[in-house]
Amino acid sequence: MLGYSTPKGTVEVSVARPRLNQLASLCGMSETDYARQHSMLSAFRVAAKASEDHLHGDVGGDTFTRRLGMLTQRPGAYLCTQCVIEDLDHWHFSWFRRSHHLLGVDWCPSHRIPLSRVTAKDPWASTPMYWVEKGEVETLQTSCACLDEAGFLARFVDIASALLEKARPFEARVINSAISQRVKFQGLRTSAQGVRPLLSDHVKVIAPAGWLEQHLPELGQKKAGEFHAWLDALAISRTVPGTGFAYAVAMSALFDTAEAAMLYLNQEAVPCRALDSDKDNKQMRRSRAFWHGEFWGIYQEFGGRPALIAQRLNMDRTYVAEKMHHMGLPALYDAATASRWRAFVRFQNGESLAAACEIERVDVAVVEALLRTTSARVVPVVKALIEGHDGPRGGSDGLNALASQRPASSPVYVREEISTQV
Ligand SMILES: [Zn+2]
Repeated sequence: MLGYSTPKGTVEVSVARPRLNQLASLCGMSETDYARQHSMLSAFRVAAKASEDHLHGDVGGDTFTRRLGMLTQRPGAYLCTQCVIEDLDHWHFSWFRRSHHLLGVDWCPSHRIPLSRVTAKDPWASTPMYWVEKGEVETLQTSCACLDEAGFLARFVDIASALLEKARPFEARVINSAISQRVKFQGLRTSAQGVRPLLSDHVKVIAPAGWLEQHLPELGQKKAGEFHAWLDALAISRTVPGTGFAYAVAMSALFDTAEAAMLYLNQEAVPCRALDSDKDNKQMRRSRAFWHGEFWGIYQEFGGRPALIAQRLNMDRTYVAEKMHHMGLPALYDAATASRWRAFVRFQNGESLAAACEIERVDVAVVEALLRTTSARVVPVVKALIEGHDGPRGGSDGLNALASQRPASSPVYVREEISTQV
């Protein structure tokens, strides 16, 4: 034990503990609270094996705390000039933030402007305001000056930031299973061999080339269909944790919004455990004839909402959603308003895919995934939902009217996805 003098008196610190935990003692904080608020363990360890999913900073995770607890996820020191201005206005002091040191996050998650790198040799020797005053900072060269709210990079910034707030890692089996389901849902491949595109192919299509070149150069060089273990294994391996960066990339590619991604991880992933242990209870009660006959009427009656259908059938919702997916009957909970569905209908009405996606401001790859996985008989159901929502503006005119009301930076996806758990 060593004794340190602090404003609150002498504090004894065990030198046998990892340095991060020693700092927690000096600050009078619990080791787990300190790790969650002042380390980047949560960005490094998004997932862990079942026996190792301790709270970050917990004594059971000393090996990881010792190895990763004092590191940032990306080398160097970064700051946001607007954060510095606001810190000085409010606190008369500025500090480095963890969210400015996430791998691949080149923008401030709060102000959506490019970060600046401290160019001094020892950037941690002083505060952000000191380096800004001295002019020893350079703005990062990014593919865009301000984040597009509907784009892959905006989702990545928000998801990486949200994962940074987690107090403990997900169990690898749960998060990998959830990602695997979502990959299937997108019509992508969950095996090393096959003809369908992989998750890595999907990322390569929707992530900006400049960002890939800087942060994932090996992905930019891969051929279509070529298995990229770092990323594609997340959807295949049941128990092996991936890197935190890989999870953030995967989730950003598989969802329309960061909110939807985190809701899915925090709420949808959990039933996977229940499903595994409850197979005899609520699965396989219905015959093949039911699924390929009577079920279609129920799907239409409940507007393709898995939660309502599962309730009607007294079955597990995740199982029903999976069953629907395999039959080409997607969940339609947000079909009336979601941009991807509106672009889907425009395409079905004869517009080109590129034009439909441009008007609705949605990634072409997202709508292509719908086209790959959706049965043709669902099209009139989606059209009816949109027309029902738009009322007198229904049909093509209604679609146009809604699209024209959207400002370019409108966070429309957020409003749409908030209601996805209906
Ligand atoms: Zn900022």
